Amino acid sequence: MKRFFQCLLATFGLTTACGQQNFETTDVQGFSLLTDNPNVVILDVRTASEYAEGHIEGAIHLDQGQSDFVEQAKAQLPSEKTIAVYCKRGRRSASAAERLAAVGYTCVSLNGGINAWKEAYMPLTTSTYRVDVFQTKSGKPLKIQALMHASIRMQFDGKEIEIDPVTKLGNRTIDYTSMPKADYIFVTHEHADHYDPNAIALLSAPHTRLVTNKRCADMLSAGTVMNNGDKQQFGDLEVEAIPAYNTTEGHLQFHPKGRDNGYLLTINGLRIYVAGDTEEIPEMAELKDIDIAFLPCNQPYTMKTEQLIKAAKTIHPRVLFPYHSGQTNLSDIPAQLTPEGIDVRLRPDFQ
Ligand code: ZN
Ligand code: ZN
Repeated sequence: MKRFFQCLLATFGLTTACGQQNFETTDVQGFSLLTDNPNVVILDVRTASEYAEGHIEGAIHLDQGQSDFVEQAKAQLPSEKTIAVYCKRGRRSASAAERLAAVGYTCVSLNGGINAWKEAYMPLTTSTYRVDVFQTKSGKPLKIQALMHASIRMQFDGKEIEIDPVTKLGNRTIDYTSMPKADYIFVTHEHADHYDPNAIALLSAPHTRLVTNKRCADMLSAGTVMNNGDKQQFGDLEVEAIPAYNTTEGHLQFHPKGRDNGYLLTINGLRIYVAGDTEEIPEMAELKDIDIAFLPCNQPYTMKTEQLIKAAKTIHPRVLFPYHSGQTNLSDIPAQLTPEGIDVRLRPDFQ
C-alpha cells in the first residue's frame, strides 16, 4: 500500500504531508485524476442536502458531522483503497481525512473543496448511481454504473455503452434523457426488464449501434443480430454472444436454449461477461480470463444464490457483480467467494 501511495504521490503531484498531518492534500487537477483511478474511492463528507444539490460523479456520501461517521466509513469503504475526500471548502474534508487516517485509511483531501472544483469548471452531477472504475490493459479508465436490475452503463474512451436499458421497472425509473446518446446498445432478450423500445429510442442517435438477439431485432425491425456463439468486432470493442438459458425442469420456458444472449465484451483487453438471464450452464466453463462478471440471481427466472456461487467459482472473475437480484438476499455471497480471491461488489441498484 505504501508503495502504491508513493506512486500516487508521484503521478498526481500530491502535496507531501507536513508536521504530524496523517493525510495528504491535493488541488483540483490532482483530485480529478484520482476520480479515474480504480484504486481510489471518492468520498463526499458534506450534508445529505449539499450532496443532493450536486456532487462529483461516483462519490459515496457520508456526512462527517454524524456521530457514527467513522463506523459508517469502516462499514462502507474498502480499507485497501485510497479515500479521496472533499467537502465545500476543504475544512470538513481535512477533519474527516484525519479521523479516517487515524483508523488506518490512506486519505487525500481536496484543497478548496467543491468550491474550487466548480471554479475550475469541473462537472458535478445529481445522479446517485454508484460508479466503479477499472483500468484497461493500456491503463485507460473504464467506468461502470449500476443503474437498475439488469441495466448497466459503461463509459470508455469517450464511448457510451448501455446494456439492457430500461426506463421503468415497477416504481423505479431511469432518466435516459439526462444521459448522452449511446455509441453501443446491447439487448440480451425480449423480457421487459431487459428490452424497452422507449429506452432504446431515447439513447439512439444516427451513430448508435444496436446489438440484439434475433427476436428483439425482429420486434424492432432494427439492430445487428448476434446469435449464440457469434463474434463481432466493433472498433475497440470485441463482442461474443454467450448462450443464456434455463436448465431447471419447470423453468425452461422462461429462457429456452438458443434464443437469448449473454455478452462477453472485450474492451481494450478488459474482459467483461454480462450473463443475461441464465442459470449455471456448461458453456460458463469455457469462459477464460474474465476480469468482471455480472451474474443474475433471482428465482424462478435465473439462479439461486447457491447456483450463482457455483457459477462464480467456475468462471472465477476478478470482480463479481451479482445483479438482477429482485428480492433475493445476497448477503451470504461475499463470505463464500472472497476466500476464492473474487472481489464481490453488491450494488443495491441492481435489485
Ligand atoms: Zn428474462
Ligand atoms: Zn430478467
